Amino acid sequence: MALKIIKSQCTVCGACEFECPNAAVKFKGETYIIDAALCTECKDQFPKPQCAAVCPVPNTCVPA
Ligand code: SF4
Ligand code: SF4
Repeated sequence: MALKIIKSQCTVCGACEFECPNAAVKFKGETYIIDAALCTECKDQFPKPQCAAVCPVPNTCVPA
């Protein structure tokens, strides 16, 4: 399981990139993406997905 970033809502602020414990958030082209192969949904690391927790735009980091 992984999260994804809703491209049309992302402001490219970069906050999620630095909070991800698995380096799953990457800047690609002109936007951020989540590498589904690296995303663990923060299970066993944090109580909830850190990218979603720090994202200033509601419902932008969501279950894929
Ligand atoms: S849910 Fe966690 S592991 Fe997945 S991209 Fe977000 S911060 Fe990274
Ligand atoms: S924290 Fe949210 S708005 Fe900022 S780069 Fe990540 S997905 Fe985009």
